[in-house]
Amino acid sequence: MSTIIETKNLTKKYGSFVAVDGVSFHLEKGQVLGVIGPNGSGKTTLFSMLLGLRKKTSGEMRVFDQENLDGIRNKMGIIMDQGAFYNDFSAHKNLTISAMTKGVDLSRVTELIDKVDLRQAGKRTFNKFSYGMRKRLEIADALLTDPELVIMDEPTNGLDPDGIRFIRELIFHLQEQGKTIMLSSHYLDEIEKVCTHFLMLRNGKVVFYGSKEEIKAQNLDLESIFSTKF
Ligand code: ADP
Ligand code: MG
Repeated sequence: MSTIIETKNLTKKYGSFVAVDGVSFHLEKGQVLGVIGPNGSGKTTLFSMLLGLRKKTSGEMRVFDQENLDGIRNKMGIIMDQGAFYNDFSAHKNLTISAMTKGVDLSRVTELIDKVDLRQAGKRTFNKFSYGMRKRLEIADALLTDPELVIMDEPTNGLDPDGIRFIRELIFHLQEQGKTIMLSSHYLDEIEKVCTHFLMLRNGKVVFYGSKEEIKAQNLDLESIFSTKF
């Protein structure tokens, strides 16, 4: 097995407030890790540290066996609900600009537009996109570099059932391709369907960490674990 992410006692304080409190886990190649917890439990803060967007306060963190994210950014596809696109450009034009910035072959652009079902958007500009379309463009952008690791912070938040199904199928598809995935959610049933491993957070602390198999072996399900922890 090859370890893609490893943290030990990873901690983030905002002033004296501890948002992520001694979190330890490891993510191995091909796993799908679901980070579960209510609003304010530290999911986004954890992801931001892994992505180098926020500095840790203490503890250890390695991504692709590096402490520093220089040179590995193209191995990571990030979907964090803050895609920055040009309002008056189409999906194709936006992705083309991004591909050029990332040094990605432009043939990927059309391929990904098809993959995320945005072909029919044609010349429609980003400011006229629905929320679901914006999300799908963000996904296409994150996949441009064909990343080994895909990190998604609450990818299904605010999506309709079709959008949620799209994300679920995307995750299965990425997993088939051997990608490693980490995503967060507060929808238990959704995350239970797609993940191989679970990390449950409460007030920044890990209250459960284990695999789907371990849960099954104990005749439990995610809901019953969640209800004992919260
Ligand atoms: P989640 O993504 O699980 O909803 P967050 O990581 O966004 O949780 O937030 C965890 C806690 O840290 C919350 O109590 C939130 O208010 C606090 N927090 C997040 N960002 C900041 C910040 N920039 N400054 C101070 N507190 C913050
Ligand atoms: Mg969040």
